[in-house]
Amino acid sequence: MSLLNENRQHGDPGIEHEPLHQDVPAGPTHESPLQRDHATTIFEKGAPGRRAFQCPDMDVPVVEGLIPEGFRRKSPARLPEVSEPELVRHYVRVSKRNYDLDSGFYPLGSCTMKHNPRLHERVAALPGHARLHPMQRPEHAQGALELMHNLEHALGEVAGLPHVSLQPSAGSHGELLGVLLTRAYHESRGERRVKVLTPDTAHGTNPATVTMAGFEVVRVATNDQGGVDVDDLRAKADDQVACLMLTNPNTLGIFDPNIEEIAKIVHDVGGTLYYDGANLNAVMGISRPGDMGFDIVHYNLHKSFTQPHGGGGPGAGPIAVSDRLAPFLPKPVVRRNDDGTYDLDHDLPQSVGRLRGFQGNYGVFVRSYAYICSLGAEGLKDASETAVLNANYLLARLRELDTENRIPLAFGELCMHEFVLSGAPMKKELGIRTLDLAKRLLDHGYHPPTVYFPLLVDEALLMEPTETETKETLDAFAESMAAILIEAADDPSIAQNAPYTTPVRRLDEAGAAKRPVIRQPL
Ligand SMILES: *Cc1c(COP(=O)(O)O)cnc(C)c1O
Repeated sequence: MSLLNENRQHGDPGIEHEPLHQDVPAGPTHESPLQRDHATTIFEKGAPGRRAFQCPDMDVPVVEGLIPEGFRRKSPARLPEVSEPELVRHYVRVSKRNYDLDSGFYPLGSCTMKHNPRLHERVAALPGHARLHPMQRPEHAQGALELMHNLEHALGEVAGLPHVSLQPSAGSHGELLGVLLTRAYHESRGERRVKVLTPDTAHGTNPATVTMAGFEVVRVATNDQGGVDVDDLRAKADDQVACLMLTNPNTLGIFDPNIEEIAKIVHDVGGTLYYDGANLNAVMGISRPGDMGFDIVHYNLHKSFTQPHGGGGPGAGPIAVSDRLAPFLPKPVVRRNDDGTYDLDHDLPQSVGRLRGFQGNYGVFVRSYAYICSLGAEGLKDASETAVLNANYLLARLRELDTENRIPLAFGELCMHEFVLSGAPMKKELGIRTLDLAKRLLDHGYHPPTVYFPLLVDEALLMEPTETETKETLDAFAESMAAILIEAADDPSIAQNAPYTTPVRRLDEAGAAKRPVIRQPL
C-alpha cells in the first residue's frame, strides 16, 4: 500500500492526469488541416486517377459473353484513388487508434485473450496452406485433409469424445450445430422435445442459440457456491427436456463439483448434455467433458487454441460428439482410407446437412494444429495449469491490495481460469461504477476486463489473465486497479470522466452497437 501512495505522490509516471475534466479543452480549439485529414475515411482522401500501384495491361483476350449481361457492372466500381504512402499511413494510423493484444494486457473475461505465437502465422502463410483453393479436389489437397483429420483427432482427445466436425465458424455456430444434432437425435427416436435447460450463469450465446434453433430456454438457478442448483435442475428436468447446456468451469470461473450428479439427472430423463467448451483453457489435458458424461462439446479455436480473435475476424467452433450423435454430423466429413489417403465423405444419410460453405476456416485449423503440435499433450496441460495459477495469483493480489473490500469476489475463494468481482460496494462507498473503473483502466494502458457480465452479479467485473502473462504484468495491473480505487476515494469525478488518454473519450456504446454508421460517405 505504501508503494501505491508513493507512486501517487510522484504522479503515476506514464499516466496522463491532465486534463481531468471534459470541459477543459485538450489543446487548440480549432482543428488543424492535419487533424481534419486524420478524421477522414480512405474514400475522402486522394484524387481522381491517383494510384498506389498500376497493373500491366491485360494481355489475355476478353471472351465476350462470359459474364451474363445482368451481372455486368455498368459503371466502374467506386474505389479509393490514393498513393501508396497515403494508403499505408491511413491504415497504420487507424490501427494505432485501437487497443490490441500485441500492445498490452487484455484481461477480457470469457474471451481467453492469450498471446498468439508468431510461429503460427508463418505456418499458416506457407503457400501450400494459404493458396489452397476451397474447390481443390481432395486428391490434390491431401496434406490439408490430413491436417484436418489430425486436428479432429487431437481435439477429440482433449474433449474425450471420438467424433469431431470442424465446420462451425464460431463458438455460437458450434452451439447451433450441437442443438440441431440434439434435435436430429431425438427425432430419430420418434421424439419431439421442446426445452433446453441452461444455468443463469450461461454465456449469452447459449440462450440465443436455443431460441434461434426453435427451442424454449428454461433457466436453472445458481446455488450459493456459484454452481448449478441441483434441486432446481431436478425440478425442471422432465421428458420434454432435449438438452442441458452447461459450461464447466462456468462463467464465474467455478468448476462444478456436482457435475456427475448433474449429468445423471439429465441423462435419466433422456436429454443430451452439451458442454460449452469456450472455457476449456482451464481444463485442457486435465479433465475431459466426455469423461464427465457430456455428449457434445464445442471448442473455440480462437480462444483456447490461439487463432487471433476480435473484430469479427475468422474463428472456428468445432464440435466433438459421442457415438449416439455421430450419424447426424454435418457433411462432408474427412475420412482416412485404408491405403492412408484422405477423402471427403458425402454419404451420410442422417446428416443435418451443411453448416457453411466449404470445410471451415482452414487457416484457423493450421494455427490451432501448430499450437497443439508445438505444445504437445504435456504442454496443453501446462498451459491450463498456468492459466489457473495466473488467475488465482491476480485474484490474490487484488484481494491483498483492496484493503477496504470495495471489489469483493462474487463467489467462492479460489477460481479456475477467470473470476468475477462485484463493484457494488465500490459504487455505494466511492460513487464510481464498474464502468468508470473500466474506463479509467484505459488511461493506465490496459484493456478493461469484461463488465456487467455475468448478469447475476451486481456491477460485475469478469477477469481472465490467461497463461501467457508474466507476474510483472499481473502485479502492475493489480496496482493500477488499487490506485484507481484510492484515487476515487479522493475524487470520484476523475474515474467518472475517464478516459483521458485514448483517441476518443466516452462513447454512446449502446448507440454505437444498435445504430452503427458503417457506410462510406456518398
Ligand atoms: C466466447 C464464448 C461463447 C461464444 O463463442 P463465439 O465464438 O464468440 O461465438 C460461448 N460461450 C462462452 C462461455 C464463451 O466464452
